[in-house]
Amino acid sequence: MSTEFESLGLCPTILATLKTLGFEKPTQVQQQAIPFILDGKDVLAGAQTGTGKTAAFGLPIIQKLLESNSKRDPQGNDVRALVLVPTRELAQQVFDNLIQYAQGSEIKIVTAYGGTSMNMQTRNLEQGCDILIATPGRLIDHMFCKNISLRKSEYLVLDEADRMLDMGFMPDIQRILKRFNEDRQTLFFSATFDKRIKSIAYKLQQDPIEVQVSPSNSTAETVKQMVYPVDKKRKAELLAYLIGSRNWQQVLVFTKTKQGSDSLAKELKLDGIKAASINGDKSQGARQKALDDFKTGKVRALIATDVAARGLDIQQLEQVVNFDMPYKAEDYVHRIGRTGRAGKEGFAVSLMSRDEHYLLEAIERLLDTRLPQEWLEGFEPSLVEDVELERSPKRNSRSSEKRKMKAKLKIHAGRGKRR
Ligand code: AMP
Repeated sequence: MSTEFESLGLCPTILATLKTLGFEKPTQVQQQAIPFILDGKDVLAGAQTGTGKTAAFGLPIIQKLLESNSKRDPQGNDVRALVLVPTRELAQQVFDNLIQYAQGSEIKIVTAYGGTSMNMQTRNLEQGCDILIATPGRLIDHMFCKNISLRKSEYLVLDEADRMLDMGFMPDIQRILKRFNEDRQTLFFSATFDKRIKSIAYKLQQDPIEVQVSPSNSTAETVKQMVYPVDKKRKAELLAYLIGSRNWQQVLVFTKTKQGSDSLAKELKLDGIKAASINGDKSQGARQKALDDFKTGKVRALIATDVAARGLDIQQLEQVVNFDMPYKAEDYVHRIGRTGRAGKEGFAVSLMSRDEHYLLEAIERLLDTRLPQEWLEGFEPSLVEDVELERSPKRNSRSSEKRKMKAKLKIHAGRGKRR
């Protein structure tokens, strides 16, 4: 067993689990955060998804729960550790990981998120649990129904805290904190690490240790990035071409709207590419099925919106495509964090139409780097189109018509006044 994991202070039970999982050495965030968490410190970690952050908080919490004398009261409804996440997919993902990390132990791990039956969750929550992974809204529902108590909770993790704030969960988080044991250890994980995040974290934490695995807002080093300028109306065609010609077997594609994700999936299917869309309009069952089909290779292209894609953990995902450039530059970091996970190589492609150029500029400012661009043969953006728009007689005649119309209106208005 790796002495590197041992030197972090992890106990033999956890070390044995890591061996079973085939984890050979700790990732950067694990290396930096685990000793402090084991030592009871609050930690503020800037680590994007794919860096092994779930194990960075999961392993030490599980170890501390195993070692703790204050075991869960089987009659009560106490939660010993709470992991708050922004989306149901991430909740499920964190659950899947933590179950693996706690295998063989009696640690009880439960999820609570919207879109699924409240009754079923209530039954799972009876007699409390050791670790609850929840989205804020559903957690508050359970608190109101007195299904759980956070009064004795010792650990609070805010996972993907930046996204939780972006999604407007701050008031919910404050409500939850009011009923949370004040004598707790708080761990704050966020992909982006700006002033806003830090100032909130400092309000919720006590003398947090700052851990940052990559410079602020940088993208995973193992991800190769490329921007293909292309006309908007040819994006779907270009995507189908890339998938086919480069033999991409598993590609995650981002669109900015739910409707966009559905129509792109339809278009790809017409081109003979097995595709499915995943967005907030779909039921939890449909989203899970699309994800499972993608993971097992039944579906080659999964089209997702930013929110729906949050928390997806697909092993060895090699391609991510930004079909639409993200409105928020930070989302670029989240999106491409889907590839090149845990040290694996990935390729992130952005299809950029002319009207999206300013979005690329915002991304480049955030990353403080220029992204490489390439025109693909046969898909070069047509300069003519724009020039035509500016100079075409049609446009000229349209604008002269407009001018004539304005003049007419003025005349009418003037006449009205005179009358
Ligand atoms: P996360 O950033 O927590 O979503 O983790 C991304 C993926 O990396 C998960 O599928 C983990 O199973 C995997 N992983 C986490 N830590 C390690 C490690 N030390 N060695 C190898 N894989 C890991």
